[in-house]
Amino acid sequence: MAKILIVEDEEAIADLEKDYLENASFQVDLAIDGEQGYHLALTGKYDLIILDVMLPKMDGFTLLKKIREDQNIPILLVTAKKEDIDKIRGLGLGADDYITKPFSPGELVARVKAHLNRYQSIIEDRDFTGDVLHIRGIKLDKTARRVFVSGQEKRLTTKEFDLLLFFMEHPNQVFTKEELFKEVWDNDYYGDIATVVVHIKKLREKIEADPVNPQYIVTVWGCGYRFKV
Ligand code: CA
Repeated sequence: MAKILIVEDEEAIADLEKDYLENASFQVDLAIDGEQGYHLALTGKYDLIILDVMLPKMDGFTLLKKIREDQNIPILLVTAKKEDIDKIRGLGLGADDYITKPFSPGELVARVKAHLNRYQSIIEDRDFTGDVLHIRGIKLDKTARRVFVSGQEKRLTTKEFDLLLFFMEHPNQVFTKEELFKEVWDNDYYGDIATVVVHIKKLREKIEADPVNPQYIVTVWGCGYRFKV
């Protein structure tokens, strides 16, 4: 769940924003002045910040600049004044977007979602500069130990990940259950080979569109399994 900070001194507006965002399943914290906002922004690990321009103790522009020294998460400025819009555009303050009062809460939620999606895809692209295997629809990041199937992240257990990694490093080669067990389960010859079958089944449920008719990890009857390229 994404975590959002609202910095807004007008209680009615703050409550409205908070209600709508919470209804959209976001976790929301509220700061009622610039200083509190600054403190929370640096300590709260937020995914996005909604920042009012006119704030007591520290105005939104100053706060934006100070947060930007430390963080590159999306920041949406909220303003009631037309003059502010020129300032936001002209100063290159590092705001990702702005919204003018009065605004519809639905529009705010839509903007928040769009910025979070965009930011998330940038983060994922960055993660893939490391050691990445990419075979058809599957991207496997060895360093971050993350797996994406058709762009969607899949949560694998340690052994499911190790097994998929081994397959993807040896595409199109056929391996018996015994061989897979030796390679992936630390050469523990006395372990239970049935675990290989169980793990392949679970892995297929996570990465295959139709686990009964797999397109990646296929069964080679009488021999074992191979990762199809
Ligand atoms: Ca205000």
